[in-house]
Amino acid sequence: MLEAPKIAAFKASLRGQFIEPHDASYEDVRALYNGMIDKRPLMIARCTNASDVMKSVNFGRENNLLVAIRGGGHNGPGLGSCDGGLVIDLSLMKGVRVDPELRTARVGPGCTQGDVDDATHAFGLAVPAGIISTTGIAGLTLSGGHGYLSRKYGLTIDNLLEADVVLADGSFVTANKEKNSDLFWALRGGGGNFGIVTSFLFQLHPVSTVFAGPIVWDQRHARTIMQRYRDFLPSAPEELGVFVGLKTILSSAPFPEELWGKRMCLLMCCYNGSEEKGGETLAPLLDGLPTPWFNWVGQMPYPSVQSMFDGLYPKGMQWYWRGDFVKTLSDSAIDVHLEQAAEAPSELSLMHLYPIDGAVHRVGKDETAWNCRDATWSMVIAGIDPNPQKAGPITRWTKGYWDAVHPFNLGGAYPNFMMDDEGDERLKATYGDNYKRLAALKAQYDPTNFFRVNQNIKP
Ligand SMILES: Cc1cc2nc3c(=O)[nH]c(=O)nc-3n(C[C@H](O)[C@H](O)[C@H](O)COP(=O)(O)OP(=O)(O)OC[C@H]3O[C@@H](n4cnc5c(N)ncnc54)[C@H](O)[C@@H]3O)c2cc1C
Repeated sequence: MLEAPKIAAFKASLRGQFIEPHDASYEDVRALYNGMIDKRPLMIARCTNASDVMKSVNFGRENNLLVAIRGGGHNGPGLGSCDGGLVIDLSLMKGVRVDPELRTARVGPGCTQGDVDDATHAFGLAVPAGIISTTGIAGLTLSGGHGYLSRKYGLTIDNLLEADVVLADGSFVTANKEKNSDLFWALRGGGGNFGIVTSFLFQLHPVSTVFAGPIVWDQRHARTIMQRYRDFLPSAPEELGVFVGLKTILSSAPFPEELWGKRMCLLMCCYNGSEEKGGETLAPLLDGLPTPWFNWVGQMPYPSVQSMFDGLYPKGMQWYWRGDFVKTLSDSAIDVHLEQAAEAPSELSLMHLYPIDGAVHRVGKDETAWNCRDATWSMVIAGIDPNPQKAGPITRWTKGYWDAVHPFNLGGAYPNFMMDDEGDERLKATYGDNYKRLAALKAQYDPTNFFRVNQNIKP
């Protein structure tokens, strides 16, 4: 039991907000993106600066509290919160400062991806990250970060130049290639295991308007589409980010009513360049394929494609995820995908294969903690539904689909596509030869495993 005066003193020391279960805003502030996860922390420290974060880390450690770190709150298994402990919530730390000459951005850990895209787009620049604007940049970055720009510019961590970090002992350090370079190595893929990042410095790239959007076919053509996509990708210009998906047309606008509820195969495209060049690039991918139900690819500002899915996936729905890294997509694997996808238990449930080739492959396996540089795709299967009563069916479908397709895939998965029930062996397979070094650095920077509400690397 914590004594009330101790709590009061901690609360008074913060510049940010301190929220307990009896506060009116508690329910709102504790809510996570994944409505399937319902965690009730003892207290939430909503920090506004690194000093608040240091005080919170010290308070948590001195009082033996379980501590969770929260950025955007988007994590699948809800690792941005905990039951009965202290949540160090960074979501108020939102500043973005762009340096257009150096093409860098200094980013606060409370930013969503949309916050970053909005700030950098004004300068015709962008940092490669994920595909939904409401995702927190912090959790996404620390476990890797992949999206439309990764083929050309690499993972988000490949564009991380520096991070300010509060360590488990409450001290503050800056990590980059020269300073605390071992910590910098671990931060680039090792998740929230090593400390709390209070500021990120990213390299930016020229990205302004893009030729982007979905092309959608009847799922009965999916075998042909997936084979073509697989064969096209290795020679596709890296300016083109394109993922394949198996899903269902939602029974709502803007989709044509006659297609509502039908199974589809999707190519989601984003060409960083003009409509003319984008069209030329897509031509060999589409040549001779069946006529799609619709092709909504067009010229748009980059933040528009980044937020295209936001409205379809609002906060609070039920999500259950499984992922894998995939090296090759055989015809037999495609057949298994088609059998499983046809059984999707809800309109929102999906399978996506995101390319992680090109520039991602040009970084060595041991240059950052992110080991799986030789995969071709990062696969995600996600059971999704707004109705809590569908939690069972979407979970069972995701697990069954994954069990069926996993034998075709590599052993590990993108940590940001894992739930918290997959075991240490999965994490070891994910980090491969880098696991030993990560565990040694964990022992150095966090010997008591203070930061353990995460995809945990044990010291
Ligand atoms: C709809 C949706 C779409 C997605 N699309 C993509 C995608 O395209 N590409 C992609 O790469 N990923 C994608 N993801 C996965 C996403 O990267 C993870 O869910 C990620 O954990 C979200 O980060 P967050 O800050 O919102 O998470 P939170 O839930 O806030 O935090 C998750 C974990 O990150 C760590 N963490 C957060 N902030 C910090 C910090 N400042 N310092 C240290 N540790 C910290 C902590 O360990 C915490 O437990 C998607 C997720 C969703 C829900």
